[in-house]
Amino acid sequence: MKHVELREVRKNFGSFEVVKGISLEIERGEILSLLGPSGCGKTTTLNMIAGFLPLDAGSIEMNGRVVHHIPPHRRNIGMVFQNYALFPHLSIFENVAFGVRMRKQPREEVSRRVQEALAMVRLEAARDRYPNQLSGGQQQRVALARAIVIQPEVLLLDEPLSNLDAKLRQEMRSEIVEIQKKIGITTIFVTHDQEEALAISDRIAVMNQGVVEQVGTPRDIYEHPRTAFVAEFIGETNSFEGDAVIDGNRLGVSLVPGLSVLAPRGEFANGSRVKVLVRPERICLSPPGDGAGEGRGAGRSGSTNLLPGMIERVVYLGSITRYHVRVGERTVVAAIPNRTQGWTVEPGSSVTLWWQVEDSLVAPARGEG
Ligand code: ATP
Repeated sequence: MKHVELREVRKNFGSFEVVKGISLEIERGEILSLLGPSGCGKTTTLNMIAGFLPLDAGSIEMNGRVVHHIPPHRRNIGMVFQNYALFPHLSIFENVAFGVRMRKQPREEVSRRVQEALAMVRLEAARDRYPNQLSGGQQQRVALARAIVIQPEVLLLDEPLSNLDAKLRQEMRSEIVEIQKKIGITTIFVTHDQEEALAISDRIAVMNQGVVEQVGTPRDIYEHPRTAFVAEFIGETNSFEGDAVIDGNRLGVSLVPGLSVLAPRGEFANGSRVKVLVRPERICLSPPGDGAGEGRGAGRSGSTNLLPGMIERVVYLGSITRYHVRVGERTVVAAIPNRTQGWTVEPGSSVTLWWQVEDSLVAPARGEG
């Protein structure tokens, strides 16, 4: 059931259009991430939901009620910022208690709720310490406790993990999801880190230059990106741009004369400018002429893309090896799990790259579609 709804929300700073008519529905109890590169308007959008910034156009509703004219403290929203924003002169207990005291609760109720929130983030033992006596991860957990203690309807998190080191960030991801699911709070999470968004979100809204390009589950966004921007921003992708040549239910883009990369046709018309995209982990390597790819149906009319190439670089990464392969004028990256390969591939080796046509994605090149 939808809980928060943005309709055609716009925001300009002077003549700079930062948010260009965003519409978005956030379901009750889900974690939705706003994901996009720096400057695409994520924080501005979050600040409008929180009530820190007025809208230039559009509307924001919670529970079907228009809220965008209501001041922040009356929206029943909890917020966590990147820089924790704790009060340095107050103990952890008092930091967390602050919002409950503002709501004029009896002393025992304040104490009970603060205890509960600190237990939730596993910091009961730190209640009498001060923020500068805690690690970054602990401070961010206090900030989370402070946001949830007021029992908000919606939790907004603005890059809450970006000041933490990589390992702590991973731990905090799981912790946030666990707490969020336990209390079932509708959560909007801003991040520019695609791995973080994939790891924590029920759904992701991918933003680019003030618009939402796609909304979907992590799997949906990764496996069925609707635009080249989404495919290239989430994960890694090899991209082949060209004019579509339609042949039945296939679409081809010419690489060099006589050699095309094939994809399912989708909705594209002959001649439209497209990008055929393939993830590195979908590509296989074989010695030339061993029939591996060919056996699965070779050629332009088959179900497999086959490209002759030459290994440029081999990067061993433990669980996988990344192969940079020269194909015509370009480099294609294949990521292969490190199982026994049976033949050595070194820079200078000739190889055949192959992958199923169905594993190619196709998206309009920028400015098209
Ligand atoms: P980041 O991850 O870097 O915070 P973001 O996607 O959250 O990026 P916003 O903070 O929403 O982006 O900013 C979007 C654009 O609006 C940026 O170009 C920023 O410089 C500009 N901007 C943000 N706030 C203001 C302001 N108060 N006045 C003028 N321009 C602003």
